[in-house]
Amino acid sequence: MQKEKVIIIGSGPAGLTAALYAARGSLNPLVISGNELGGQVSITTEVENYPGFPEGTTGPELAELIRKQAERFGARVEIDEVLAVDFTKSSPFYIKTHKEEYLTDAAIIATGASPKRLGVAGEEEFIGRGVSFCATCDGFFFRGKDVVVVGGGDSALEEGLFLTKYANSVRVLHRRDTLRAGEALKGRALKNEKLSFVWNTVVEQINGNGRVKSVDVRDLKSGSTRTLPTNGVFIYVGHYPNTALFEGQLAMDEHKYLITDEKMMTNVPGVFAAGEVQDPVYRQVATSVGQGVAAAMMTERWLSERGSR
Ligand code: NAP
Repeated sequence: MQKEKVIIIGSGPAGLTAALYAARGSLNPLVISGNELGGQVSITTEVENYPGFPEGTTGPELAELIRKQAERFGARVEIDEVLAVDFTKSSPFYIKTHKEEYLTDAAIIATGASPKRLGVAGEEEFIGRGVSFCATCDGFFFRGKDVVVVGGGDSALEEGLFLTKYANSVRVLHRRDTLRAGEALKGRALKNEKLSFVWNTVVEQINGNGRVKSVDVRDLKSGSTRTLPTNGVFIYVGHYPNTALFEGQLAMDEHKYLITDEKMMTNVPGVFAAGEVQDPVYRQVATSVGQGVAAAMMTERWLSERGSR
């Protein structure tokens, strides 16, 4: 069993920034990356609102820069996945991954959030064959094709705009006639000639034959249904927090977000959380980074107070 002072679960902006601060605080933190090294931002196309990048940057670039900065100060990033934790007993806590078993004095949970599914017929069947949750990963395969994007938030518009670089046409299907997305993205989307909106519309079924061929949609105002031919369906209907591992062990709200106090600590002393896993409100790269800083500082203080650093 490997003994650690601090294990950080998750390698998005919150986890890597917590690692940077913990490393600078001489805690020699270990980051267990999870499936997506760099977290959600690494599958985001452009990041235009992260301070310090007046021309914008890309998600993968930003994730890589934060990782390098954390490693420069001694953080270790292990490409591995946590399979089980035991936060029911007091510190040190048990963490089991694919590769290793650990005991750690403190833990910072930064497991982030994952894209929600629509829950319609054909969605699971055609993942990787026309249904996608990641324009950055899959946009290239839709060169010259027609695609639909589902959702009316920032993600739908940002990724829809990205898809216009490849696709022949991008139709955004939104269940209302008002966008949830912010003004900047809204303005750009409304001006883009390749992008159009289909309002008050939901997807009822995704059809195909080996690959996606069409979607059945319902107009919520008239109640009428029709079939729209399309080669791709990009789904951006929000996120859910990645907290299944902590079910029954850490306090969560009704939407399964971890509950933290003003010191970023969960209901278990020594277990902290940062980023989208505990933030249903802001969900920005910049706020996740700030929460990572706070969680690392409070972890350092907690370990000092109990004399274990
Ligand atoms: P979101 O803001 O929660 O938007 C989800 C969208 O999906 C909403 O338009 C919602 O419709 C729609 N929706 C939800 N469930 C649906 C369903 N079952 N069927 C059809 N449509 C459904 O999620 P997000 O766009 O992923 O953004 C998440 C957070 O990240 C937000 O805080 C956002 O500001 C932030 N973000 C920021 C940027 C940026 O600033 N550049 C980029 C990406 C994300 P309603 O509007 O009717 O609820």
